[in-house]
Amino acid sequence: MTKYIFVTGGVTSSLGKGIISASLAKLLQSRGFSVTIQKFDPYINVDPGTLNPYEHGECYVTDDGAETDLDLGYYERFLNKPVSQANNVTTGRIYQTVIQNERKGEYLGKTVQVIPHITDEIKRRMMLLGQSDEHDIVITELGGTVGDIESLPYLEAVRQMRWDLGNDNCLVIHLTLLPYLEAAKELKTKPTQHSVKELQNAGIQPDILVCRTDHDISNAIRRKIALFCNVEISSVIEAITADTVYAVPLLMLRENLDRVVINKLKLRERKEPDLKKWKEFLGRLKNPTHEINVGLIGKYIELKDAYKSIYESFLLAGAEKECEVNVIPIQSENIYDDNIKDKFSDLDGILVAPGFGERGFEGKVIAARYARENKMPFFGICLGMQTAVVEFSRNVLGLENANSTEMNPNTPYKVIDLMEEQKQIENMGGTMRLGTYPCEIKKNSKVHAAYGESKVNERHRHRYEMNNDFKKDLEKAGMHCVGINPSTNLVEMIELKDHPWFIASQFHPEYKSTVEEPHPLFVSFIEACMKNKSID
Ligand code: GLN
Repeated sequence: MTKYIFVTGGVTSSLGKGIISASLAKLLQSRGFSVTIQKFDPYINVDPGTLNPYEHGECYVTDDGAETDLDLGYYERFLNKPVSQANNVTTGRIYQTVIQNERKGEYLGKTVQVIPHITDEIKRRMMLLGQSDEHDIVITELGGTVGDIESLPYLEAVRQMRWDLGNDNCLVIHLTLLPYLEAAKELKTKPTQHSVKELQNAGIQPDILVCRTDHDISNAIRRKIALFCNVEISSVIEAITADTVYAVPLLMLRENLDRVVINKLKLRERKEPDLKKWKEFLGRLKNPTHEINVGLIGKYIELKDAYKSIYESFLLAGAEKECEVNVIPIQSENIYDDNIKDKFSDLDGILVAPGFGERGFEGKVIAARYARENKMPFFGICLGMQTAVVEFSRNVLGLENANSTEMNPNTPYKVIDLMEEQKQIENMGGTMRLGTYPCEIKKNSKVHAAYGESKVNERHRHRYEMNNDFKKDLEKAGMHCVGINPSTNLVEMIELKDHPWFIASQFHPEYKSTVEEPHPLFVSFIEACMKNKSID
C-alpha cells in the first residue's frame, strides 16, 4: 500500500518546503523506494501558466505539457524522474472540477459545499498518484503557510486522510523557522510553538518538525520544542541554512530524517542510502577548477526565480565540467549598439532567454548580432532562437524590418509567425504548444555532436514558430536548421555554420537538466565558453 507524507509550512513562507520535500524524496529513493512528489497550491489560477514571472517566478513545464510551479523543477532535478500534470494542483483546478461536476448534475441536488465537496476533490487528487502500484511513497507539499485562510480546506483534507488511512500510512512533517535574536544570542522557539498550535487547531498533530535555522540547535532547544509541540525529540530535525540547496539531502541524512520517516511509517528497510553519485556531484560543484562568465540576456532579470531552471542548468552542467559558471543577468531593455561592447567585455558567452512580448526584444537582437559577428558563444532558448532568426534575416539576408509577428504584426517579412491552429485561439491558459515533442537532429551538426544522438524529445512552451518559407534562404546563408520536428516539419534547432558555437532551440532544454543528467546543450555551451575564454 502507498504511504503518504504531507509537508506543511509555518511561521513564514520561503523556508524551502520544496527543497525539504525533494531532499527527503531523494533519501528515500536512494534507499530503494519509489517516490513521487506533488504540490498543492492554494491560489485560484487554474495553473501558473497565466502568471507574470514577477508574480510567481518561472513557470515549469512537464513532459505532458502541464504548466506548473517551479518547485516541480526541483523534484525532477533531484529525483531524475519526470513529473506530470497530476503532480501540481491548484485551488482553481479543484473548484473548476467541482463546479463542472455540479453543472453535470453529479451532486444529485445536494448543496455543494467546501466540506465535503471541495475537501473530497482535494483528497481524490491527493491520492491519485498513489493508486497505481508505481509509487511506494507519495510526498505532498502544501503551498502557503499554516494559518492562511486559503490553506484551510487542504488542512482539513489532510486531517481526514490521516483518519481514513491511519498513522502508519500517513505522516505530517511541519517545516518551521527558529529565528535567532542577536541581542539575546538565542534561537527562539515561540513562533514554532504557535505555528504547531495553529495546525493542532485544524486537528493535525505533526509527527516531525523540521526547523529551519541559521544556527545549530542545541539539545536543550530540541527538548523544549519536542515537549511543547508534542513530538519525540528524535523528530525535531535541524535544517540549517546550506550554501547550496543540493547539500540539503546530506544534511537531512545526518539528521536521520529518512530513518525517522521509515520508522513512523513502518516501512520495511530495503538498503542503506546510496548517495555516491550525489556526493561526487557535490564534490565537483564545490571544487571547480575553471570559471566562466555568461551573460543572461532577458527582461525579468531582477528576479532570479524567473529564470530558475536556466540558472540551475548552468550550475548542474558547470559541475559536470568542474567549472563555476557566473551567470550575469543583463537587462535587454538597456542594450544598445553603442554600449554593448562595454556590457559584454567580461563575458565568455551569452544566453538569450525565453520571453513574451516586445519589451526588451530589440536589445536581444543587438546581443545576437554582437555574438554572431564577434564569434562569441551564443545560446538562444525559445524567444532566444526567434531573436537569432530575426537578427540573421535582417542583417545577413538583408530583409529590412524582418520580425516576429508577435512583435510587429505588420512586418514585411514574417520570419517568425503564429501557426495556423494558434490563430483561432482566444483563451490564454494552457493553449500554447506545450510539453514534449520529438526532434530529429541532422548528422554532422554541432548539436549532433553535443547530444550524441539523432533523435531527442524536448519540452516546449510557445505560440510562434520559425516560418519555413524562409528556411532555404537562411540555410543558404549559413543558418542551418539542424533540428526538425519529424511530423510537422517545424524547425526546432538552428546553428550557424561559420561560428564556433551559435546554437538556439525553439524548445526549452533547461526543463530537462537534472543532477544525474545535466543537459548536453548546456554542457556543450559551457565547453565552448571555456574554450573562448582560453583563446582570449
Ligand atoms: N513569445 C514566444 C512565443 O510565444 C516565445 C516564448 C518563449 O520564449 N517561451 O512563441
